[in-house]
Amino acid sequence: MNIAARIRAVGAWAGGVDNRKRKVGKVKCEGCGKEIRSDGDLSGVEYVKTKRGTELFMHHDCVGEVWKYKIM
Ligand SMILES: [Zn+2]
Repeated sequence: MNIAARIRAVGAWAGGVDNRKRKVGKVKCEGCGKEIRSDGDLSGVEYVKTKRGTELFMHHDCVGEVWKYKIM
C-alpha cells in the first residue's frame, strides 16, 4: 500500500508540489484530527478501508481511538 498515493488520490490539495512535482495531498487523522500530508513522514501513518469503502488515515498511535469510535 502506497499511503502517499492514496492521500493524493482522496485528499484535498495541500497547496504545493512534492519533490517529484506531484500535487501534495492532505487528509486529517481520524483519531486526533491533525493534518497528514502526502509529502510528510508517513512511516507512522496507517491506512484503513472500511467495509463501506471509506478510506481512513490515522497515526499509528491514534488507531485505538479510531477503532473504538469509527470503525464497526
Ligand atoms: Zn492522529
